[in-house]
Amino acid sequence: MKVSNLGEIELIKKISKGIKLFSKDIIKGIGDDTAVLKFDKKHYLLLTTDTLVEDDHFNLSWFTPEQVGKKAIESNISDIAAMGGFPKYTLISLILPKNTNVNFINKLYNGINKSSKKYKISIIGGNLTHGKNISITVNMIGIVEKKNLCLRSNAKINDLILVTGNLGASRAGLELLRNKKTGKSINNYLNTKCKLNIGRKLSNYVNAMEDVSDGLSSEVLNICSESKTGAVIYKEKIPINKTTINDTKKVNKNPYDYALYGGEDFELVFTINKNKFEKLNKIKSDFTIVGKILSKKEGVYLLDKGKKKKLGYGYDQFKSKL
Ligand SMILES: [Mg+2]
Repeated sequence: MKVSNLGEIELIKKISKGIKLFSKDIIKGIGDDTAVLKFDKKHYLLLTTDTLVEDDHFNLSWFTPEQVGKKAIESNISDIAAMGGFPKYTLISLILPKNTNVNFINKLYNGINKSSKKYKISIIGGNLTHGKNISITVNMIGIVEKKNLCLRSNAKINDLILVTGNLGASRAGLELLRNKKTGKSINNYLNTKCKLNIGRKLSNYVNAMEDVSDGLSSEVLNICSESKTGAVIYKEKIPINKTTINDTKKVNKNPYDYALYGGEDFELVFTINKNKFEKLNKIKSDFTIVGKILSKKEGVYLLDKGKKKKLGYGYDQFKSKL
């Protein structure tokens, strides 16, 4: 059987089955945005890793090397932010074809250094090796106060489900580029920005949190699966800005499909007790209520003009046709 038949979710399940944990210091292993380890009396350690591969995750005729560097750092911070924590250290491994221009590396590191400086992240190591395609693997290490840890498994029945910002813009931008069209959404796709500051503030109030990297549908399904709950998403409440809607029209696609299944928006989706909702006023930012956590037996579904529709997983790197 090929990994394309199995898909990412089943592949993770298969790998997880054969894994044994040998330490009591592990608070959370596979199954969240980062791993969580014991650290000191008041803090946990957060660890995550992500790889960008040339022509799969970035195309150098669209991205500048600086933008690739920023994307590598910001997409990893996004996972730390989803846990309620902040990043501290990073290790960066590069696979480079032997004919890679050194100037590319200079520019790539301009982007990496700019994002690292912005969030005071120290680069403490890495690895260099050669291979067929350029590949950038970032390992990010962060810290979270124990009381601020936001696990996917922490959603409670009747919690409201909210998202930050707008969804679907990044995928709309990618499709414009693929179809050789222009539009403002291209900026959203090329210039990755994590929501670290807002994640830190949210961590004081929310139950479960996850970053939107594979589309709203996948993230809500993950939260429900880890929390053993159901959920309803109200389709008409999903925040999509006018630019995204216009740009999506240019490629004859439905903007709601991009919001639900597109990915790489790097917004945050979170669940919060109704009684704490008003406290979000203290955080000056855009939030939208998009749904509610239900009991497991009610299932996970999309409510579209009064009709229940099944929600599926979004972008699957092994199954999805790009
Ligand atoms: Mg994530």
